[in-house]
Amino acid sequence: MIRMARAPLLAAWLLFALALPTLATATLPAEGRYPGGIARIALTGTGFAGEGEVRFRDRRVLTLAENGRWYALVGLPLDLAPGDYAVTVSPAGGPSTSIDFAIGDKQYRTQTLTVKPGMVNLSAESLARVQRETPRIRQALDHWDAAMHADSLAFHVPVPGRRSSSFGLRRVFNGESRKPHSGMDIAAPTGTAVVAPAAGVVTEAGDFFFNGNTVFVDHGHGLVTMYCHLSAIDVAPGQQVAAGERLGAVGATGRVTGPHLHWSVSLNGTMVDPALFLAAGS
Ligand SMILES: [Zn+2]
Repeated sequence: MIRMARAPLLAAWLLFALALPTLATATLPAEGRYPGGIARIALTGTGFAGEGEVRFRDRRVLTLAENGRWYALVGLPLDLAPGDYAVTVSPAGGPSTSIDFAIGDKQYRTQTLTVKPGMVNLSAESLARVQRETPRIRQALDHWDAAMHADSLAFHVPVPGRRSSSFGLRRVFNGESRKPHSGMDIAAPTGTAVVAPAAGVVTEAGDFFFNGNTVFVDHGHGLVTMYCHLSAIDVAPGQQVAAGERLGAVGATGRVTGPHLHWSVSLNGTMVDPALFLAAGS
């Protein structure tokens, strides 16, 4: 359903002035209109042709064209209630349009874990560290890079190995509910190379309390990937990386029980299931 609304002239002018080249053609990721998934919304009939912006809940979302048709890719939060939502499409110089879409439900499994008490009930020192680190993580994930760096959204697998299907897993640590698992775990021996799944720019890298040695790669347009628990970091912030380029090595740093890669994919500041970006059977 499409509704028309007037866009303020100033906003329209700013959008036009800020418009930058966008990803012209790419293989779209798989769609999943449920919490933790991606809504792929055709922008047909809105006048959007790459300049301007599309927003979901006040956040800009990634837009791209495939076979001459424009789409918005909307990351759907894990805690989003099933129901009706909308994106606002604001083509440069044209009126804004609202496109409604429905989100279904998805049942994720629950896992009960017993971990070292110090990792659940943080010391004052650890808590202070986590509070210092959280804004760095949020900043990397929420960053909007107007340049699109990824030339394809059909991602390389960042490390070969057994992939868990644990994205969205609800976790109870020592009887206390924690945030659901917001990434994919890939089991691999310590030292195994971790590579960029698509081209991007390293925006943050360092040692974090929960995630251990971590690298963030910004692929542009709010698409950011995160690599955790690394034994080695081989890139630095500001560095451009190509698809397949080494970022670091698998490890067991941070809050883990064994060596593996925790890989997260964030779209419009929202963790989505990384499996949607991998071709089936890859
Ligand atoms: Zn994980």
